[in-house]
Amino acid sequence: MDEFKFHAKMPIFVARQWVRHRTASINEYSARFSILDKEFYIPEPEVMGIQSKSNRQGRDESVSKEQAEAIKKLLIEDAARNYEHYEFMLNDDGMGKPKDPERDMFARELSRMDLSLNFYTQWYWKTDLHNLFHFLHLRADPHAQYEIRVYAEAMSGILKDAVPLAWEAFEDYELYATKLSRPEQQVMAQVMKENNISFSKDEILNSAGSTGMTNKREKEEMLEKFEKLGLIKK
Ligand SMILES: Cc1cc2nc3c(=O)[nH]c(=O)nc-3n(C[C@H](O)[C@H](O)[C@H](O)COP(=O)(O)OP(=O)(O)OC[C@H]3O[C@@H](n4cnc5c(N)ncnc54)[C@H](O)[C@@H]3O)c2cc1C
Repeated sequence: MDEFKFHAKMPIFVARQWVRHRTASINEYSARFSILDKEFYIPEPEVMGIQSKSNRQGRDESVSKEQAEAIKKLLIEDAARNYEHYEFMLNDDGMGKPKDPERDMFARELSRMDLSLNFYTQWYWKTDLHNLFHFLHLRADPHAQYEIRVYAEAMSGILKDAVPLAWEAFEDYELYATKLSRPEQQVMAQVMKENNISFSKDEILNSAGSTGMTNKREKEEMLEKFEKLGLIKK
């Protein structure tokens, strides 16, 4: 079984989405043990979208340039201030001694609570190919939040190079495949019937040949599905 291990660094709010994928093992950089770097995510103006009206989980077109600048300023100021307070609480000179000997060194596991969700965390994330495809299917999808999607897209590029045949099969049979519900199938069958549209098996197989479908079993399975959808002449 192919396994893939990624060393990924992402804003904490992206990690919170990513960690929902339970079929991977994670070894995260511990902010109880180590001091987090002063690194935080600021979105580019073109992805600073307004709240979507149609999807409560999403964003629509970008805010104006002026508003994007104002939001960027707030994000930078807040993160910088939070980090300053984090460092103040840690009171660590980098050698394990207090910077200010008059104050205690507040615990790392507590000091971190003052950091905002756009600070970066990092981890090693290991999973097998099957579950990695599942992750990419969900997170490279346009419905996924942009900030996690960019990771999924980068990981997809790595996989395409590493396992080209498996990637092709994933695209053909998972990523671009469509599942129809029973009501959807009924609508499809009905519209075909009302418009008197159907095809013979030979017509379908000829078309399959011209699109390059050669596998016998794949053709048989396709005919079965088309039959279910009412596409085949009785
Ligand atoms: C666009 C989008 C929007 C989302 N919105 C929300 C939201 O609003 N709120 C929210 O809480 N989450 C949300 N999620 C997260 C989502 O509900 C899943 O938790 C996440 O995508 C992980 O998917 P998964 O469970 O299939 O993956 P994995 O945890 O990797 O599991 C893979 C598969 O393994 C099987 N599996 C894993 N663990 C078990 C188990 N213990 N028992 C049985 N089967 C198991 C299941 O078949 C599962 O599909 C969203 C995800 C996406 C992509």
